[in-house]
Amino acid sequence: MRIEGLFPSPGHYQIHFCDQCGICAEVCPVEAIELKDGIYRINEEECIACHECVEACPQSVMIIKGEDDMPAKCVLCGECAAVCPREAIIISKEKNIAEGK
Ligand code: SF4
Ligand code: SF4
Repeated sequence: MRIEGLFPSPGHYQIHFCDQCGICAEVCPVEAIELKDGIYRINEEECIACHECVEACPQSVMIIKGEDDMPAKCVLCGECAAVCPREAIIISKEKNIAEGK
């Protein structure tokens, strides 16, 4: 997840998150990103840490782990929703709950 501050104008925070679009899997040269049950996961046994997926992610939410230089992404674990003190993140099956506001 990446929070982008848009100040002074228009003056709000933009949340960028993984929408499981699969672009990272498409660009991976060794097919190390696998789709299972609607979630793209990195197979670290296959990954060669080339960071092509990091460059290609349209949301810039594929990160590089400091400890081993390997990429990491959202796997819909829900931990972010669990820790948010303002309940700004909820688990929903709807595509975009903000639509229509
Ligand atoms: S990490 Fe980026 S490219 Fe990969 S599925 Fe998520 S949003 Fe798409
Ligand atoms: S860093 Fe790993 S998962 Fe990402 S594109 Fe390269 S080999 Fe594939």
